[in-house]
Amino acid sequence: MKISELFLSQERTFSFEFFPPKDEISAVDFGINVGQLMRLSPSFVTVTYGAGGSTQERTFNLVDYLQNKIGLTTMAHYTCVNASKPRIQDDLKFLQSRNIKNIMLLRGDPPKGEEKFVAPQNGFSYANELISYVDDNFDFCKAGACYVEKHPEAKSLEADLINLKRKVDAGADFLISQLFFDNNYYFSFMEKSKAKGINCRIIPGIIPITSYNQIERFTKMSGTKIPPELSIRLEEHKDNKAKTYQIGLDYTIKQCQELLAAGAPGIHFYTLNKSRAAIEIFESL
Ligand SMILES: Cc1cc2nc3c(=O)[nH]c(=O)nc-3n(C[C@H](O)[C@H](O)[C@H](O)COP(=O)(O)OP(=O)(O)OC[C@H]3O[C@@H](n4cnc5c(N)ncnc54)[C@H](O)[C@@H]3O)c2cc1C
Repeated sequence: MKISELFLSQERTFSFEFFPPKDEISAVDFGINVGQLMRLSPSFVTVTYGAGGSTQERTFNLVDYLQNKIGLTTMAHYTCVNASKPRIQDDLKFLQSRNIKNIMLLRGDPPKGEEKFVAPQNGFSYANELISYVDDNFDFCKAGACYVEKHPEAKSLEADLINLKRKVDAGADFLISQLFFDNNYYFSFMEKSKAKGINCRIIPGIIPITSYNQIERFTKMSGTKIPPELSIRLEEHKDNKAKTYQIGLDYTIKQCQELLAAGAPGIHFYTLNKSRAAIEIFESL
């Protein structure tokens, strides 16, 4: 089913992001965790696409498995990195042949060691171009990414929003946000997007905080800010795993509750292929 069709009957969606396991051991671990998460009947699940298309085969196989063997509404992530138009056409035809109806279309990050994204030959420079191409040639439900604290390369949030509007005008049916910890960024972003005429669903992407090291790593990677009071509490207890887990869990539950109470159209969980925190958060909502 297309996720856009699901929106007609679900005012709010709860979804999970996975990445393809890299070896047999993580595949077993993945199976156990996904098995637990399935009990929660997510609205849909998504599978990431490794940097530079490095996980393409595993991403496509996993999407096929989750959609066709497990019966979950599944969305494949896909990027423009190293992808010419003929290759994109082949890849998307393949997904279509596997009955995949949903795709998250991204530009992707520049390859390691390179500062600037360079479009591949006969490929695309920005996600809006990829979305427009897919809109013209295929019949997928299309999602795009957005950044409530702005994309790290964007000069300003205003410039980023102008580019985001291009993605929606090109045919993105809905957006999922980069992870964030301070809801004020999401609320302010929602107002600014509306003012720009962006009216599709913008689903907040939330990562369950489970350890001090994890949150430090993710904030460095994404440029996301941690509210100082949370940062201080986590740092105070950084050597006590059980305590930091509980602080993180309590914080994420409150964060999700506040978002939903303010009208957010659901939550997209960055699960990191783990189930425990997502289950505890989900059940408490
Ligand atoms: C929900 C989500 C899921 C993700 N999943 C993956 C994944 O599976 N695999 C992966 O490799 N990465 C993934 N990413 C990361 C993403 O690939 C990077 O953040 C990447 O740097 C930007 O991708 P984008 O699609 O947002 O790019 P774009 O929308 O193209 O934006 C990139 C930058 O260019 C600017 N820009 C956009 N359009 C234009 C234009 N027409 N003219 C001038 N400037 C423009 C934007 O303001 C922004 O600064 C994900 C991110 C999110 C939020």
